[in-house]
Amino acid sequence: MQHFNMIINGEEIGNDLPKVEVTNPATSEVVATIPRGGKDEAVRAVDAADTAFRDWSRKSVYERSELIRKWYDLINEHKEDLAETMTREQGKPIKEAQGEIQYANGFISWYAEEGKRIYGEQIPATQTNKRLFVSKQPVGVVAVITPWNFPAAMITRKVAPALATGCTVVIKPANLTPLTALKMAALAEQAGIPKGVINVVTGDSKAIGEAWLEDMRVRKLTFTGSTEVGRQLMKGSADTIKKVSLELGGHAPSIVMDDCDIDKAVEGVVASKFRNAGQTCVCSNRVYVHEDIAEEFTQRLVKKVKELKVGNGLEEGVDIGPLIDEDAVEKVQKHIEDAVSKGAKVVTGGKAGKGLFYEPTVLTNVSEDMLCMTDETFGPLAPISTFKSQEEAIERANDSIYGLAAYVFTENITRGIQICEQLEYGIVGLNDGLPSTPQAPFGGFKQSGLGREGGHQGIEEFLEVKYISVGL
Ligand code: ADP
Repeated sequence: MQHFNMIINGEEIGNDLPKVEVTNPATSEVVATIPRGGKDEAVRAVDAADTAFRDWSRKSVYERSELIRKWYDLINEHKEDLAETMTREQGKPIKEAQGEIQYANGFISWYAEEGKRIYGEQIPATQTNKRLFVSKQPVGVVAVITPWNFPAAMITRKVAPALATGCTVVIKPANLTPLTALKMAALAEQAGIPKGVINVVTGDSKAIGEAWLEDMRVRKLTFTGSTEVGRQLMKGSADTIKKVSLELGGHAPSIVMDDCDIDKAVEGVVASKFRNAGQTCVCSNRVYVHEDIAEEFTQRLVKKVKELKVGNGLEEGVDIGPLIDEDAVEKVQKHIEDAVSKGAKVVTGGKAGKGLFYEPTVLTNVSEDMLCMTDETFGPLAPISTFKSQEEAIERANDSIYGLAAYVFTENITRGIQICEQLEYGIVGLNDGLPSTPQAPFGGFKQSGLGREGGHQGIEEFLEVKYISVGL
């Protein structure tokens, strides 16, 4: 059995600690073990990151950029192994895991360059004997806490901009999927990124989280996960007034207008809904279809959904892997049972398979009082509800505590732009089911979070602004 240790200050830590098993959700086999660390390891990691910050933040950005770029090259060299590791611990089909490694590495190459464009300003002064300058500097040690659905990308979209600015990081990957992260951190060491710049701690989430929250040296927390945990972490950041970035839950609506290209809309909904077996925070959770095309759209969608192959992600041609755990399967089941009890019709799917697999499911005759219309399903369930007018669709789409992603399908560009502008969402895909990309800002309105990741906006999250007034 392979054992992976934590990485703190460039050393492998954890041989003497209790072990946690990491299992393959497709087979229930134990893939590896990791150490169950806690407060002591969390504090040690901050000690290392705090010490490393002094040198790392004083390097020229060109020097940092070159090391970050070497990390990119090594991840690229090891992409097949990383993707396979990801599928084994997370379950997603191997082609999606390969896609995620490429996407994750895209943040590293993009921020290796963007670090060179952290510009200051000079502001015209009122008096002639003054000069007013604005510069930007790294915020300090950053705590990074990530979920299991994107074991690589959720880390690099935080760590790459942090490192580019000169910050150092302490990372707590999800215990369900820590292996990809640990392998990537080991590659960072090989690339020559100095010890202590990237530290990875595994184990007791609560104890590690608390240690970082109360530590004054941790100046910033960046978290992706549930709204519930995000809320706790935001409260916990209050005592030391940390900066916080939060990427939380979503409940994405897809609006399918009567003038859409139906095949394009079906393709977009399938891509946004069924990727990672429906386990992404930007997955389409509610499909609103104009009543005039609802029958045709549903027929074509169901045909595509029936073609999706469910199975072990390592097997050729699989489109939908297992869900992450028993709770995830139960949640999908509960959402379907609730909807059916309130009048929804199962058009395809609707049943759990063996182990953690679940049939991709389409429901029609769905109404707003059903659980799946307000609660994030995080599984392969597409509920279809019909609407009569554009206004109605927008109002129903916006009626949510979440505001992460939304999708619109129409061939009428004026209408498309009007709808995009009225949606209270941080990301809108207009005739596009897969809008995420490293160079664009990703983040939510309302209770979907704070701050943005990706794009030039994503680097600002790790910078402090310093104003210097010079008297001549
Ligand atoms: P998910 O369902 O996506 O795992 P969670 O919000 O439960 O979402 O968890 C996201 C990450 O936050 C995981 O790495 C988890 O271990 C961690 N986590 C959960 N609870 C806490 C906590 N109280 N303090 C710090 N980290 C936590």
